[in-house]
Amino acid sequence: MTAEIIDGKAFAARVREQVATHVAKLKEENDLTPGLAVVLVGEDPASQVYVRSKGKQTVEVGMKSVEHKLDVDASEAELLDLIDQLNTDPTIHGILVQLPLPKHLDEDLVINSIDPAKDVDGFHISNVGLLGTGQKSMVPCTPLGCLMMLRDYHGDLSGMNAVVIGRSNIVGKPMANLLLGDSCTVTVAHSRTKDLPDVVRGADIVVAAVGRPEMVPGDWIKKGATVIDVGINRIPAPEKGEGKMKLVGDVDFTSAAKVAGAITPVPGGVGPMTIACLLANTLTACCRSAGLPEPSGLTA
Ligand code: NAD
Repeated sequence: MTAEIIDGKAFAARVREQVATHVAKLKEENDLTPGLAVVLVGEDPASQVYVRSKGKQTVEVGMKSVEHKLDVDASEAELLDLIDQLNTDPTIHGILVQLPLPKHLDEDLVINSIDPAKDVDGFHISNVGLLGTGQKSMVPCTPLGCLMMLRDYHGDLSGMNAVVIGRSNIVGKPMANLLLGDSCTVTVAHSRTKDLPDVVRGADIVVAAVGRPEMVPGDWIKKGATVIDVGINRIPAPEKGEGKMKLVGDVDFTSAAKVAGAITPVPGGVGPMTIACLLANTLTACCRSAGLPEPSGLTA
């Protein structure tokens, strides 16, 4: 058996198209342009790449994009003051503070100072609580992207056994809550889980969010299962030449693709969906703030 490849790149392009169409309609019918502000503290090279890419895609779908760059030694007061201004700016509907923050800044305090209605990352404690209690919230982008791909592939997820490997606040836990919301039977596995291979073998859906290159081999996967690989790991690729690197997921793609029914590749799977969902969340936040109907299929 060879798994069907779930093409996250193509899916993300469709999501962006849907967002762009809705943004154009909002402009025409309501004279309203969704705005996303991204705040970057310091000069972490990976964060700079992410922020540039977010800004570019925001503009491409017709939204307003604003970037705020603060020095690596910016004070907490300075950052909170900026967030305060963005919270009250009527042209800004989404605020994203790029993580990780420099060590001297209290990440929880900063995230919880964002207006929950503008918290397009879905990390504010209010949104976490709303999601955990099955209420309308802003949903973290990466798990939202995974859910969209699973719904698209399966339709109804109800009654399926899902195993989420990883219990982080940004991926594992919200993913588990989303799958529960779609009536899956959910197991959350983590670094202390006993007999992980056996736990994974019972799953119709496997979501791997660990950060360990190719740790899930094909013989852990149940025949026909759907595998969503969130991991992004950079490893040496001597086959490409000396000093070259490549990206791999948390799943050993070659062996898993022989048994799975469907699988997301790395790169080109979950990754592109994350920014597409950020744009979707910004649009959703804008519609909610104006009391307008939300676009369908872009929220949990
Ligand atoms: P994290 O380090 O916060 O959490 C990792 C989790 O894995 C922890 O809960 C830990 O208990 C679990 N874990 C560690 N070792 C384990 C083991 N041996 N067996 C079982 N569980 C184990 O990581 P994160 O932020 O959730 O990210 C996970 C991966 O997903 C990383 O590779 C990250 O780069 C990637 N990621 C990708 C996207 C994307 O857009 N595609 C977004 C976020 C994170």
